[in-house]
Amino acid sequence: MFDYQAPANLLKDKVILISGAGSGIGKAAALTYANNGATVILLGRKVEKLEQVYDEIDQANAPKAAITPFDLEGANEENYQELVNSIYSEFGRLDGLLNNASILGTLTPIQSYSLTTWNQVLQINLNAQFALSKYCLPLLQEADNASIVFTSSGAGRKPYAYWGAYSVSKAATEALAQVLFLELENTSKIRVNTVNPGGTATKMRSQAFPGENPANLPKSEEIMPLYLYLMGDDSLQENGKQFDAQ
Ligand code: NAP
Repeated sequence: MFDYQAPANLLKDKVILISGAGSGIGKAAALTYANNGATVILLGRKVEKLEQVYDEIDQANAPKAAITPFDLEGANEENYQELVNSIYSEFGRLDGLLNNASILGTLTPIQSYSLTTWNQVLQINLNAQFALSKYCLPLLQEADNASIVFTSSGAGRKPYAYWGAYSVSKAATEALAQVLFLELENTSKIRVNTVNPGGTATKMRSQAFPGENPANLPKSEEIMPLYLYLMGDDSLQENGKQFDAQ
């Protein structure tokens, strides 16, 4: 497991946007960031799940969170611009973006992969991460220093047979992060890194490995040291790198 002990209030005064914050790893990251002093913006499809995370943050007496219901599959340019405008008008800043939301699609050979599912996976796992990052860049550029984290996978670092669109989307996410890092490294104080969470007990993992006992896997909360490290100022020197959370 990545080893990191955060100093108290590591993320005080930071505003961090998390996609897919209603469940799994995104939810754990939202709670962790908030408990370390950040104001978190919870982006996801299902408002009830986001409200539950909002309430947990509230009960922990962490900084008040914000909820942004947003469907990354259907969003258009106007929706992204409105999202960023509302972050600007409500908070006036953005210090971090965790691109976390994804779907698995189906595990099947390329020859039988549905075109509809292929497009849906690429839209959510890749195109939406590009769009969210693109529209957030102007605000992130205004921060003293900012962090963009992309969520990859073992299936992206070295593609797997039968994982089709998911594997391709994660390999392309690595490429997207690298392109962005190269463009920004000499001209901005935004750092860009990727995280491979590793097998973690979530809904997606049990969809991919239905026969596996989730009790044998780390819980989302257990892989948070790396997520915390990459959003805080202890990682200012980390840029353009691939990290493993466990
Ligand atoms: P998860 O529990 O299924 O969470 C995925 C999140 O993405 C959910 O909050 C989901 O929202 C959101 N999402 C999906 N489609 C969306 C859309 N159209 N618009 C907005 N939000 C959408 O999976 P997880 O395991 O926590 O995965 C988190 C990240 O880690 C993913 O990028 C995944 O690829 C990566 N990862 C996970 C593992 C693992 O073992 N768990 C391993 C390697 C990589 P809803 O709740 O509304 O569906």
